[in-house]
Amino acid sequence: MKFSNLKLTTPYLNLEPIFYCEVEPSPLKNPFVISVSDDAARLLGVDEELMLDDKLLEIINGTKKLKGSKPFAMCYAGHQFGYFVPRLGDGRAINLGKVNGQNLQLKGAGQTLYSRHGDGRAVLRSSIREYLISEAMYGLGIATSRALAIIGSDSDVARQTWEKGAIVLRLSPTWIRFGTFEYFYAKGDYERLQLLADYVIGESFAHLKNTKNLYLEMYKQIVKNTAATLAHWQSVGFNHGVMNTDNMSIDGRTIDYGPFAFLDDYESNYVCNHTDTEGRYSFKNQPGIAHWNLAKLANALSPIINYEHSLEVLEEHFGTTYESKYLELMYRKMGLFDTKEGDIDLLKLMLSSLERANIDFSMFFYKLSTYSGKKKYILEIAVFQEPLQEWLESYDERLRCESLRQDRRHEEMLKVNPKYVLKNHILQEAIEKAERHDFGMVNDLLKVALNPFGEHKDLEYLAKPTPLSSKNIKLSCSS
Ligand code: AMP
Ligand code: MG
Repeated sequence: MKFSNLKLTTPYLNLEPIFYCEVEPSPLKNPFVISVSDDAARLLGVDEELMLDDKLLEIINGTKKLKGSKPFAMCYAGHQFGYFVPRLGDGRAINLGKVNGQNLQLKGAGQTLYSRHGDGRAVLRSSIREYLISEAMYGLGIATSRALAIIGSDSDVARQTWEKGAIVLRLSPTWIRFGTFEYFYAKGDYERLQLLADYVIGESFAHLKNTKNLYLEMYKQIVKNTAATLAHWQSVGFNHGVMNTDNMSIDGRTIDYGPFAFLDDYESNYVCNHTDTEGRYSFKNQPGIAHWNLAKLANALSPIINYEHSLEVLEEHFGTTYESKYLELMYRKMGLFDTKEGDIDLLKLMLSSLERANIDFSMFFYKLSTYSGKKKYILEIAVFQEPLQEWLESYDERLRCESLRQDRRHEEMLKVNPKYVLKNHILQEAIEKAERHDFGMVNDLLKVALNPFGEHKDLEYLAKPTPLSSKNIKLSCSS
């Protein structure tokens, strides 16, 4: 199947017009394809190379339509940095329709009814980041929206300086957010709130359809999915940066990538978003913020689910799901496959040692995956070695009780500790090249994003350590 032969449906438009506005994309000037993910296209049933599809560019630029496509933007509200904003919505995202359970969406395709004062555009810099991180999160096994392609253009877009406009074609099984429920709750429109819940169950939780307390079961599933995704984020050192309720997907997957970062040195207080001066969305706050957001969702659902019952579900399932997933992931990363008393203390001690050692989080685990007792091999990447030296002694002792042979243990650890991590300094280098019309590095990064645990002999340069001046930098929200 060729991409341009896909036939879309638009089930969201079966809801009443209050849920959306129909809108045509505004094409960019002199568009060109920068990169495509054939891997993402396979989700749609596409098995012919995207680059060979001569209509791909026009479809993404909005000058040609896929069969059945009826472009529209969705409305939603949201808590932004703790404060409620009753009307947000897709201000620069335009949905094209759905195929194979995936909703296609153009980001940066122009203004909609919900643009407020925005220009409806996305700049090349932030589009490259979103394109690559979507595929990288997938490569790491984390629930995420995907990105099928990115196009660039000659259109000027005003930010702090003039930049060029770009469009990413994103895919997700749902684009409904916690904030979509908040929109109808704030309007007091409980009838539409219930219609939305029914839609969400059909789209994301069809397996619950015949259960008792259907809406409560839906909420429970949202709590569990969100907790599991957060455990994944924390295990790989991912800082999202803008966990507003309008950026929380109703099925718990990661969406709306902005000033995100993977930790360089392990620093639990790290805040990637430069405008987040209070550190609301710091790395260590993320699970707590997810819980806060889920409580706001419970409130928004209160006309159709007893609020006390929702909170009980939240208290019963968030912490337990988060903790069991987090421990499972972290023990695998540490190579602890047997369960021993004291493992949790070893994990806590490891994190506090990493914090004091000033050591790269991902590189530490990658090196630990081939560690055979020579402490220098690990310590050489730490600025302060003493805290880690002590931890390695306890770790050595613990490893002696493991039943799995060292070579097998290493093999298993290398499946979860990536060699290639899309750190900000690497993305920045690719962006600067792309701004000079050299897209080779974007395509190299796509390869390692999709297979971060593999060896890429010709792409070793993408696994280099972060230069001191670029460690744990903060990023601007402007995109
Ligand atoms: P974000 O922080 O990127 O999730 O965006 C928050 C809200 O602002 C969403 O409703 C976006 O659609 C909207 N928005 C962000 N940038 C723009 C833009 N350039 N033009 C129009 N709307 C925008
Ligand atoms: Mg958003």
